[in-house]
Amino acid sequence: MSVDDFKYFIDQFEDMRVLRYRLPGFEELTLQQKKFIFYMSQAALSGRDILWDQNFRFNLKIRKTLEAILDTYSGDRSSLQFKLFLIYVKRVFFANGIHHHYSNDKLKPDFDADYFATLIHGSDSEKLPLTDNETPDQLILSLSPLLFDEKLYSRKIERREGADIVAESSINMYEGVTQDEVESFYAGKANPNDVNPISLGLNSKVIKKNGKLVEKVYKSGGLYGTVIDRIIFWLEKANSCSDSEGQRKAIKLLIGFYKTGDLKLWDKFNIQWVKDGEPDVDFNNGFIETYSDPLGMKATWEAIVNYTDIDATKRSRIITANAQWFEDNSPIDPKYKKEKVTGVAAKVINIAMLGGECYPVSPLGINLPNADWIRKEVGSKSVTLANISEAHDKSSQGSGFLEEFASDKAEVERVKKYGTLADALHTDLHECVGHASGKLAPGTDPNALKNYASALEEARADLFALYYIMDKKIIELALLPDEDAAKASYDVYLRNGLLTQIVRIKHGKNIEEAHMRNRSAICHWVYERGRSKNVVELFKSNYKSYVRINDYKMLRELFGELLNEIQRIKSEGDFDAGKKIIENYGVKIDADLHTEILKRYDKLNLAPYTGFINPKLIPVFDNAGEITDVEVEYVDDYLGQMMEYGRNYSFL
Ligand code: ZN
Repeated sequence: MSVDDFKYFIDQFEDMRVLRYRLPGFEELTLQQKKFIFYMSQAALSGRDILWDQNFRFNLKIRKTLEAILDTYSGDRSSLQFKLFLIYVKRVFFANGIHHHYSNDKLKPDFDADYFATLIHGSDSEKLPLTDNETPDQLILSLSPLLFDEKLYSRKIERREGADIVAESSINMYEGVTQDEVESFYAGKANPNDVNPISLGLNSKVIKKNGKLVEKVYKSGGLYGTVIDRIIFWLEKANSCSDSEGQRKAIKLLIGFYKTGDLKLWDKFNIQWVKDGEPDVDFNNGFIETYSDPLGMKATWEAIVNYTDIDATKRSRIITANAQWFEDNSPIDPKYKKEKVTGVAAKVINIAMLGGECYPVSPLGINLPNADWIRKEVGSKSVTLANISEAHDKSSQGSGFLEEFASDKAEVERVKKYGTLADALHTDLHECVGHASGKLAPGTDPNALKNYASALEEARADLFALYYIMDKKIIELALLPDEDAAKASYDVYLRNGLLTQIVRIKHGKNIEEAHMRNRSAICHWVYERGRSKNVVELFKSNYKSYVRINDYKMLRELFGELLNEIQRIKSEGDFDAGKKIIENYGVKIDADLHTEILKRYDKLNLAPYTGFINPKLIPVFDNAGEITDVEVEYVDDYLGQMMEYGRNYSFL
């Protein structure tokens, strides 16, 4: 199938849209590699219930109820009420639970509790997730407040200043405990002199038992044990098909970690996974990102399976080869530079399967592992996702967005011509050298920046990319054709950070998510800093707001200045200074501007959040039951895929 014939767009409901992605070059992989991908994909899909339960402890019961209704409701399915119910279900599936994946607010159904009761009564009670002796009426009584009482569990993650961010968050990583209790529980556990510290608390839930705090560890035989056993089953199958000795070692360590919950093994796995380098087929699978924990310690479960995109990998290899040059010439304090930037592996991959936290909303780049000391001593792997970016790009062309928000025709032309390339290079610089650069001062607590750590770290990587994309070195290395391409990158970044990214946020709300806070903080900081010289200009024309960059060179200097400061904050663990930058520049939204931007955006009828349905990987068996090939089927039924996953990969 050629790129032009491929249907990317699948569905849209309110602020969410669903695309699908291609698997270019999959047919050319060896049988062994295809089998590896198939088995790893089964492992990636098997952990789905963990994430649902982590997001909110009643999510699974709610999902199973919604699935039973979808499957068996015998009443009128053509009514407006039922259509509104379908939209709600699609949104819940998209968010992996009843809270919005980005805003963290509880999703609001557009039907009422009476209709919900009607749906349950009209469905097959055998299929409902009723516990012992529970009647459908009791199920309705227990679930209705969760869905319809706006005040109950209203926020998945509450980061509001002054809030008890543990007790007021609905995320299911803590239960019945306060922020103070959790902080003092962990305070005694970290050894400040340990140069190879484990990721304390990464894979557990903290509860209170007989008045004392205890950890329930995610492991075989422990919390989520039944799911983890399924994941182990498929990991073992995949391991038998791995091409690489190093990868087999890594998978064994991962299995050991899942069996024991031992975080030392998690570190060993990550070290081995980095050391294995760049196999043609690779994976992530585990408790990895800590964005959903208000305290930034506990990780949600995620998985991806991927294979190398050989051509596109060349670009990031050039960056990696020059990593030391970037580090040496960066505008940060020499004492916080790495003498030797190690193991900044960089490549471009195609996703073959998304699972857990990566499904349906996929990341655009991945840079792992997260432990600072492993990154420093062993290195990290950095990848950008070619087929996911392709789907984004192809589906957004012709949407009218650029024409509405760009400040003039020249900008539209520039961004049309160079936007995709500049964006890919920004991501490469961010992932391959941005996160990898810099070091902590001796004795600095790596967790000193607490709830501001994620936003500041993203800002550091973004600033590194922004600073260098305008460097003549980039043209020397033939990464961009000319300076106009770099200008396009600045145009897009400033327009997004000062104006358009807030289309993702409901009016009256603050910016919560780390990447968005970072972009807002950077843009508002440089805007204010350069104001006296009119470096970046905000102006109105026909009552519409626009951004214009008047001095690209000076803007670059400002990016360098802020990079220097944020590196200092990270290196010294200067919590107060970091907090100030994020709170002063990254959180608040001007109410009038917000109204205006939302209005303009609404007219375009676009959805700001993109998710993806997975292709179906179908093994072909011979008479002896051996797999002889794996075929790709591109499905286009979003709800159908969600229901299939519910049927085949539900182990809790
Ligand atoms: Zn990043």
